[in-house]
This record gives sequence, C-alpha cells and structure tokens, in this order.
Amino acid sequence: MRLMVLITLILSGALSHYQNDRFKELRDIMVESQIISRGITDSRTIEAMRKVPRHLFVPPGLRSEAYADYPLSIGHGQTISQPFIVAYMTELSEPSPGKKALEIGTGSGYQAAVLAEIADSVFTIELVPELTKEAETRLRALGYDNIVVREGDGYNGWPGKRDFDIILVTAAAPQVPPPLIEQLAEGGRLVMPVGEPDSVQQLILLTKRKGKVSERRLEAVRFVPLRRGK
Ligand code: SAH
Repeated sequence: MRLMVLITLILSGALSHYQNDRFKELRDIMVESQIISRGITDSRTIEAMRKVPRHLFVPPGLRSEAYADYPLSIGHGQTISQPFIVAYMTELSEPSPGKKALEIGTGSGYQAAVLAEIADSVFTIELVPELTKEAETRLRALGYDNIVVREGDGYNGWPGKRDFDIILVTAAAPQVPPPLIEQLAEGGRLVMPVGEPDSVQQLILLTKRKGKVSERRLEAVRFVPLRRGK
C-alpha cells in the first residue's frame, strides 16, 4: 500500500514537472514568435513575459491555448488580452524598479503580474466581484505580495491615492477618465484604448510633464468596454 502511494506521488510529481517544462517551452516560443519578432525590445518586459505563468491565469479548460496569439475568455463576458498587447502596453508604460502602478480592469490578474515583476507596487481595480476574488486568490498563491487588488469602479482611480508613475486601463472608453489624469505623477505615463465600445479603438499614451499632458495615438486595438459601477 505504502509503495503504491509512493509510486503515485512520484508519478504525479513527474507529471506536473513535465507539464511545467512544457508550458515554459510554449512560453519561450510565444516570447520569440509573438513578442520579440514584432518589435518589443524592452528587456525587462521581455523577461517578465518569459516568467509569468500565463496558463495559470486562464480557465483550466483553456490552458492548452494560454500561449496562443489571441485573447481568451475568462468568464463574465470578459477576456485576458492577447500576449502581444500585454507586452506592448507594458513596454509603453516604461516600468522600472521603484515605480508605482495603477491598473483599471484586473480581469485575470495577468497584466498586473507582468507589471509587478518589474515595478515596485501595483494597485489594480476590478468591477466584477467574482473576477476580483479569483484574481486576488491566484496572485496570492503565486506569491505576488506587491499587488493590491480592489473591487470597484476604476473610473475614479484609487481612492485616496495619487502620483502613479504608470496607469494602465485595460478596458475601452470614448475618453480618458479625468480623475485618472489627475492621479498620474509628474513624468508619469498612462496607456489606454480610446474609442467607442464594440468597435475598433486606438491605443493612446498620455505623458505628464511639468503638469502638462501630451497625447500620442498608437495602434488600433479592440478591448471590452469600461463600464460604470452603480
Ligand atoms: N487586464 C486583464 C484583462 C482585462 S479585461 C488581464 O490581464 O486579464 C477588462 C476588465 O475590465 C474586465 O475584467 C472588466 O470586468 C473590467 N472593467 C470594466 N469596467 C471597469 C471599471 N469601470 N472598473 C474596473 N474594472 C472594469
């Protein structure tokens, strides 16, 4: 009996080891073929994308597709963004150690984890209660103790906080919510898809210098809408 238990333990250990190796391999291929080959050059972003186990951020039935070149459903009508978009938004936000980041739209928690690999701290807000809880549990289990998850409407940013070096909004709206611009630090960068919901939007980058905000319009993208809480 004991021998059987031992054999089962060894076999399941070997299997999860094999699966982790396999996912690591798929992740490295994703980084080469979807991230580096399309022009992402920031070494911190590339390392973070190599490290974060994306397959643990998608529903178990979709794990085999976790490293594919498209967004995936995470339930509640929401999606985890395509790997390239996550890398692109991360690179645009210029994360580095010492920076404080805010994300609106936690979803699975994947983008927050990628940022948290590089920045000092990440504050992230999610409107859907179930997604908030799931993301929080997942991020705890993976040891991300520099991420704070909060349930609520992110339109007004993080209550009582400001001076974020980075603000990423991972849901689309016709314009950037003014409270978010106020919470951006001097020298800070805000990245967000702007445009009508259910159509193609444009990724925009806002930078704040000497209190003045300038805007750059970038790629066409498609995101789920930023909704308003009650
Ligand atoms: N960044 C996520 C993907 C986000 S999808 C990831 O890495 O998985 C966009 C998310 O924004 C959805 O989960 C949606 O519920 C959430 N959302 C929509 N409107 C919101 C709002 N006003 N405040 C906070 N979250 C919002």
